[in-house]
Amino acid sequence: MVITPVEISIKDLVNGFEDNAENGVRAYGKKLDIRPPYQREFVYNDKQRSKVIETVSKGYPLNTMYWAKRKDGTFEIIDGQQRTLSICQFVNNDFSFNFKTYKSLQESEKSRILDYKLSVYICDGDDKEKLDWFETINIAGAELTKQELRNAVYSGVWVTDAKRYFSKTNCAAYNIGSKYLSGEMNRQAYLETAIKWISGAKNDGEIREYMANHVDDENAKPLFDYFSNVIDWVKKLFPKYRKQMKSVDWGTLYKLYANSSNFNPVELENEIARLMQDTDEVQNQVGIYWYVFDHDRKHLNLRGFSDQQKTIMYERQKGLCPMCKGTENENKKWDFSEMDGDHIIPWSKGGKTVLENGQMLCRKHNHEKSDN
Ligand SMILES: [Zn+2]
Repeated sequence: MVITPVEISIKDLVNGFEDNAENGVRAYGKKLDIRPPYQREFVYNDKQRSKVIETVSKGYPLNTMYWAKRKDGTFEIIDGQQRTLSICQFVNNDFSFNFKTYKSLQESEKSRILDYKLSVYICDGDDKEKLDWFETINIAGAELTKQELRNAVYSGVWVTDAKRYFSKTNCAAYNIGSKYLSGEMNRQAYLETAIKWISGAKNDGEIREYMANHVDDENAKPLFDYFSNVIDWVKKLFPKYRKQMKSVDWGTLYKLYANSSNFNPVELENEIARLMQDTDEVQNQVGIYWYVFDHDRKHLNLRGFSDQQKTIMYERQKGLCPMCKGTENENKKWDFSEMDGDHIIPWSKGGKTVLENGQMLCRKHNHEKSDN
């Protein structure tokens, strides 16, 4: 990978500046993508924008910015988006600094701004090198999310089409699926989720792999179709909507169970309704949507006895384990730390986490009991 330090004058930077809102923001003779289509909105406030203009008009240095060179010879800002936008917007008379717009400045003041040199690193290399590097510098800039970085690296027709489906205001993915997804759409969270769903990717490397394999596709329709199938399946199986459904990893459940005929919406709803009401015991309501498929209790994060309850039970039993009765440990007084709380009637049979349904067992017996 080649990283080239260059100086870019503000005069060259603002040349051809255009802000087409969601269709992107360009400058530098239209060769620089300041904000690619369907990316986050401008977030600097007036005070932050003014700081940038103050720095420039006093001739103080701004931190180095980072541009990525694309295959077609154009550039994309990786770090420095907000500063660059502030400068362009000021020269475009979009806001004033010290009660003055750019056009009301004296010629010498204008020249000082236009002649100001920005220090920019231009990065050119293969996808993996770029991404590694972007991620490293992004720690300092903290301007882009991981998916925004990946979009920059794998930019092209496919990514642009994917963003049209997954991150444009009122996009298709939003319209069908926003109730079932979490994260910020315009920070590319929906796109990231869709890629995870279709590819089964669990981490950054696997998401990149999928993107690398599709970077030259002519459109992202297959990705959207898959996403749409997942959402249709969810709506059919769980017609009653609950807000917890926003946080469920539907893509994984779809892969595991979409081909199974063992589940019907009425039975699922009955079980979900019952578990949702069990707010005393079920501490992870999102997990209910997993539990109804495999009935593994770990999804529910069932309530255990508190330290206070355990102390009361321990004193009540005088440190003896009721299940040790009739064994050599019948009269053994266990240390508090050697015992654990147990539900006499288990949760699956309706037992609650209350003192009347609790006892302390020695470790061996507690272990034996929770095994069956
Ligand atoms: Zn025991």
